Amino acid sequence: MEQDFNSKMKEALIAMKREILGTLATNNDDFRKIVDDMESKDVVDIASDAIDSKMLETFGSKDMNRLKLIDSALMRIEQGKYGLCLKCGKKIPQERLEAIPYAFLCINCKSDDERKNR
Ligand SMILES: [Zn+2]
Repeated sequence: MEQDFNSKMKEALIAMKREILGTLATNNDDFRKIVDDMESKDVVDIASDAIDSKMLETFGSKDMNRLKLIDSALMRIEQGKYGLCLKCGKKIPQERLEAIPYAFLCINCKSDDERKNR
């Protein structure tokens, strides 16, 4: 059951990653070259670190942050830690993960965080 959920979320994360990379590639020739290079590899193996910091300036941190979050979620699936809150270690409800597959905090910790940042 749990395993099924994880592989479903893995597929969702990979689809999201492809979508972001695809959008970036459509808007920028340099980036398209990078993505073309990447196509030969497994998309899961592409670390967002491989993307130059210049790209960060070009595309803004929002998409890059999302890519990093997706990457770390994929890593946590590999490590069997997916779906556990990074802060308190409690399980993140599956409904929350379905809404935000790369969520890494439970709702309690997340709202704690937001209160602090305000
Ligand atoms: Zn938590």
